[in-house]
Amino acid sequence: MTTTTASLTDRYVAHNYNPLPVVAEHAQGVWITDTSGRRYLDMLSAYSAMNFGHGHPDLVAAAQDQLRRMTLVSRAFDHNLLGGFAEGLTALTGTDMMIPMNTGAEAVETAIKLARKWAYENKGVPDGRAEIIVAAGNFHGRTTTIIGFSDDPDARNGFGPYTPGFVRVPYGDADALGRALTADTAAVLLEPVQGEAGVIIPPDDYLPRVRELCSERNVLLVLDEIQSGLGRTGTTLAAERVGVAADLVILGKALGGGIVPASAVTGRREVLETLRPGQHGSTFGGNPLACAVGSAVVTLLADGHYQQRAASLGRVLAERLEALHGRGVLRTRTVGLWAGIDIDPALATGRQVCERLAQRGILAKDTHGSTIRLSPPLVIEEDELTWAIDELDATLQELRRR
Ligand code: PLP
Repeated sequence: MTTTTASLTDRYVAHNYNPLPVVAEHAQGVWITDTSGRRYLDMLSAYSAMNFGHGHPDLVAAAQDQLRRMTLVSRAFDHNLLGGFAEGLTALTGTDMMIPMNTGAEAVETAIKLARKWAYENKGVPDGRAEIIVAAGNFHGRTTTIIGFSDDPDARNGFGPYTPGFVRVPYGDADALGRALTADTAAVLLEPVQGEAGVIIPPDDYLPRVRELCSERNVLLVLDEIQSGLGRTGTTLAAERVGVAADLVILGKALGGGIVPASAVTGRREVLETLRPGQHGSTFGGNPLACAVGSAVVTLLADGHYQQRAASLGRVLAERLEALHGRGVLRTRTVGLWAGIDIDPALATGRQVCERLAQRGILAKDTHGSTIRLSPPLVIEEDELTWAIDELDATLQELRRR
């Protein structure tokens, strides 16, 4: 059964991913079960889209209830859930106004359009000249515009010509960013923590200094919190950790509760109000089903319980990972319930470690050679988390003995 399903996927689905040899069939909480009935601890959470675990009862109930009522009317008509969802999300994030989209990349594209429009209409940048500063190592999605300002050859090469208007600077270096600002700079677009790059956490004064520069130079600070936001780092938004409020915040992944694709750009009224009818849209963006689930997600995050779990379990994770330094691990970076682990490349690639972890019943994902990422659902129990780290330790010991 497993072989058949996997070979059908291999034959009929484009090979744009290289999945681990596991065929998932159902999942509950932090556990994924494959087609042969074997259980795996989900230490990836679909890249943070599953922050609340598989089949969270509140989210499933919201979706099921809404499925029976109404799923899509398009934005040609208003519907009874859109305004309330927007009110809840803006309250949760301390912003004024939002625009709903579906996928992360679409929301990033939306933020780019908003920043350019604002620059022409409010800042007085001459038409066609707006620039957006981005960071080396960025990952903001897979559209043609976005991959054009990536420096990852796999993401970028072979897909040109690339969209102009982006300037890349080193990540974590506020001085370099300051030097790149010009009168035509519309926005700075950053991840508060770079997820795909390997959970790269910038120095604590980086975002505050970038915020200051943006305010001084009348430049929008746009933070892509698609992976870092909605509880992952121990606060609702990762930028809160360092006391920074962006002009635009991009959300996705967990906003749809792992049930529907739901993303949004939320931010300052002055920026959102530059969009007028006909200038941007999406058939599915803000659909009733996504709003029902999104509102349930907002409710789950409202009392800070999941953020606190991420913070306190994150401390356990950080401590347990630090104990692996010198035991096959070169470095670890942890923020909330999110970690990047640099495995000694002499020992194994990240992929090889993930394959061995899967054999031990743990699903994690490698990135860039010898780094693996952990981002378990925020509902994970402490003993499940420590078991996963013990298994990682055992895997590394096994590799050292080879
Ligand atoms: N931005 C960040 C920071 C991400 O991590 C991702 C996905 O991994 C995206 C954007 C793109 O989101 P999507 O895959 O939903 O288009």
